[in-house]
Amino acid sequence: MSAPIVEFLVTGDEVMRGIIADTNTQITASKLFPLGLALRQTTVVGDRGEDIRRTLLEVSARADFCLVSGGLGPTSDDLTAACAAQAAGVPMRTHAPWLEHLKQRWAKIRPNETMPANNLRQAELPESAEVLGNPDGSAPAFALRIDRCLFFFLPGVPREHHRIVDELVIPRLLEATGNAVLRSRILQCYGVTESRLDDLVSPIREAHPEVRFGFRTKYPENHLSLSALAPDAATAEANLSRVERMCREVLGSFVYGQDGVTFAQAVGEEVARRGQTICCAESCTGGLLAQLLTEVGGSSRWMVGAFVTYSNGLKESALGVPRELLQQHGAVSEPVVRAMAEGARHRSGSTWSAAITGIAGPDGGTPDKPVGTVWLALSGPPGTTARPAKYRGDRGQVRLQSAYGALQLLREALGPGRAP
Ligand code: ATP
Ligand code: MG
Repeated sequence: MSAPIVEFLVTGDEVMRGIIADTNTQITASKLFPLGLALRQTTVVGDRGEDIRRTLLEVSARADFCLVSGGLGPTSDDLTAACAAQAAGVPMRTHAPWLEHLKQRWAKIRPNETMPANNLRQAELPESAEVLGNPDGSAPAFALRIDRCLFFFLPGVPREHHRIVDELVIPRLLEATGNAVLRSRILQCYGVTESRLDDLVSPIREAHPEVRFGFRTKYPENHLSLSALAPDAATAEANLSRVERMCREVLGSFVYGQDGVTFAQAVGEEVARRGQTICCAESCTGGLLAQLLTEVGGSSRWMVGAFVTYSNGLKESALGVPRELLQQHGAVSEPVVRAMAEGARHRSGSTWSAAITGIAGPDGGTPDKPVGTVWLALSGPPGTTARPAKYRGDRGQVRLQSAYGALQLLREALGPGRAP
């Protein structure tokens, strides 16, 4: 089959009034594109029956597949299922298995209350619908053919929507397009810009159309996604691993992890593997580095803690930074950042200690220390190293890059992070 025509129909007054952003389309489109299912058109309508019905009929005449988001709930503004039945020219009927499921679900969650009658509406579905279900909610997703188009009707609630797309819709779309098996991998990179990443891998991409390449920035990281579609699992896996190997070769240590690990987690797990520990001394990042490290589950195995020393006074009293150094060089300087790292390591007893001091802005810059000037240091068994950095961007960006810079120092000291 040639590239199918895929459309979205988004319903909901909240989107039309600007109360919420239509993130369902954005996230779902980004999943479908690497699968060769490029979106041709999206239509957004409010909770108005005539608009929903008209759009369903228009789409049914031109698209192969359409994902419909929202309006499956129990309230009176949830009109989508009835509109689908009208557009398909079939009656609504009670779907007995889903009704039973709703009753059991209610009894489990609220055993002491009777289920309101309007909840039963969620078992009323167009007669010819194929019920797909909903692992997390009470409104069932369903598929329904109208004219040439196979529609997937999905709840609007993002968590439910995305899980159903992943588990119930994408496998059906792949099957229908003849590429039944998808294998994908995300190579997560730090230290390389998006355009450099693209340059590095583009010869591989051009030579290997059997794998789709996607790029995504998750500031300050850049991710490369590889998706191999094939009629069978062995082919998909072989294609993916061949191309992944080539990409890893050209990207070298820019790749810090894969498939959802965080940068701090990758570094922290390497520290843990060696039975070591880490402590932080932070000024301009105000605890951001510690936050990145401690949001990793299990980080208490290797994370000792952090000194957040914003003032000069606390740098002296908490970390033992000599007053003369602060007076002579200023808080944002190599001698001070070294003293912060060494003080934190000494006082915490950790194996490694990372320190950050800088000017995050928007105020506080001077001609010789403009906003974005940051000193990073790492103290550990081989001694203490310091590195100056000049980061661009707003306050949030400077702080995030500073925290990443400190993690990168540690990553390099541990071995695998050296730039290629
Ligand atoms: P419910 O059972 O909650 O009524 P539903 O399937 O009827 O679910 P909606 O009523 O359209 O879906 O939306 C439910 C909630 O999901 C909305 O309040 C909104 O917060 C969120 N939501 C709906 N549509 C979108 C969208 N396109 N993008 C992001 N969030 C959305
Ligand atoms: Mg609703």
